[in-house]
Amino acid sequence: MDPLQIVLATGNPGKRAEFASLFAGLSLHWLHPDPALPAPEEPHPTFVENALAKARHASRHGGRPALADDSGLCVHALGGAPGVRSARFALGASGGPAATRDAQDAANNRLLLQRLQGLGERRAHFVCVLVAVRDPEDPEPLVAHGWLHGEVAQEPAGQAGFGYDPLFLLPRQGRTLAQLDAQAKNRFSHRARACSQMVQLLQAFWGVAPQANRTQG
Ligand code: IMP
Repeated sequence: MDPLQIVLATGNPGKRAEFASLFAGLSLHWLHPDPALPAPEEPHPTFVENALAKARHASRHGGRPALADDSGLCVHALGGAPGVRSARFALGASGGPAATRDAQDAANNRLLLQRLQGLGERRAHFVCVLVAVRDPEDPEPLVAHGWLHGEVAQEPAGQAGFGYDPLFLLPRQGRTLAQLDAQAKNRFSHRARACSQMVQLLQAFWGVAPQANRTQG
């Protein structure tokens, strides 16, 4: 059976690398949205609504089934912020968008440390919601969730990963996510947990076949 051609609705290279590995066991051929395509709006207050909007948008423009994720960091002392605004947390505070994704991540991390300065309550969790649609109007989207609990570190540590990884401390391991290699992160991260559910849903509802070898677009 031919691999399922599916649009992966993210331009984030950190997420793309993780998805390629986390879905390697399924017979999928990833298509990537045209970088010139305007990014979908993410106006909704919940991860699930944003992920659904991104999946429908990608399927509409790609003419194929699509998979999207919406994810972010929720910090208890900040009432769940930055939450759905995780990617854009420091926008506005810094006067405008940063020149690169790495610069934006660094600005977000600085702002987070600033907001938590002097606070002992540092619990936080990552959320990942994945949505797959067969077409833009699909009345039965597949939805999967994953969470990862931890704390915001006092200072950044580690070089791996992306986004808030250098500040996300796993208390039992005494390390941040950015101090783990990709394989270790992919064993238990919020994205890994959501992907593992989504693999089962894709097999059960769409009949996607398992595959030992990775197929990438
Ligand atoms: P989205 O593209 O709106 O889903 O943005 C998600 C944002 O949440 C990213 O840009 C990161 O700032 C943050 N984020 C989500 N997942 C992770 C992760 O696994 N590690 C670090 N940061 C993450």
